[in-house]
Amino acid sequence: MSEQPSITRLDLFIDRMVSQRACLDDAIARTKGRTEPVFELGLGNGRTFHHMRERIRDRDIYVFERAVASHPDSTPAEELTVLGDVRETLPAALDRFPTGASLIHADLGGHSREKNDAFARMVSPLIEPLLAPGGLMVSSDRMYFTNLVEQPLPEGAVEGRCFTYLRI
Ligand code: SAM
Repeated sequence: MSEQPSITRLDLFIDRMVSQRACLDDAIARTKGRTEPVFELGLGNGRTFHHMRERIRDRDIYVFERAVASHPDSTPAEELTVLGDVRETLPAALDRFPTGASLIHADLGGHSREKNDAFARMVSPLIEPLLAPGGLMVSSDRMYFTNLVEQPLPEGAVEGRCFTYLRI
């Protein structure tokens, strides 16, 4: 009898990328036609921002990032960049964006699962009031919301690698 091969870091990385794209594409389709803006929390290299900018033509995408270091092709315009620590910029966004966002994507984590989970617990109550009713929130980490409802994963996404939440 052959032994089950163990899951490698490469497997986990690929699962995360495939899931991120599947969840984003699903959320973009489900929020199509909405007028509220889109928020990208954590620009990094800008890959997910680039994907969203290519797929979302009907809404502005505001990027929340503490230090922009993205690929030149994937750098948001200055007026769409909210520079600073999300612990400060998210509460301030409540006044600036009274309608809330139709779609929020968060990929703020690093390599430590424990630290990512602690950060997700802390930042969840700051994100929750910014999502418009009927809006969707996509995250690479499990979030800890009071009123948002976790959604079934779309086809192609891997359990535990991406999460989608709906504000009813
Ligand atoms: N999704 C991106 C991509 O496809 O290239 C990768 C995002 S990267 C994993 C995480 C980003 O979140 C980093 O650029 C980091 O600077 C940012 N970040 C982490 N904590 C933050 C905080 N407290 N405030 C603002 N930005 C933060």
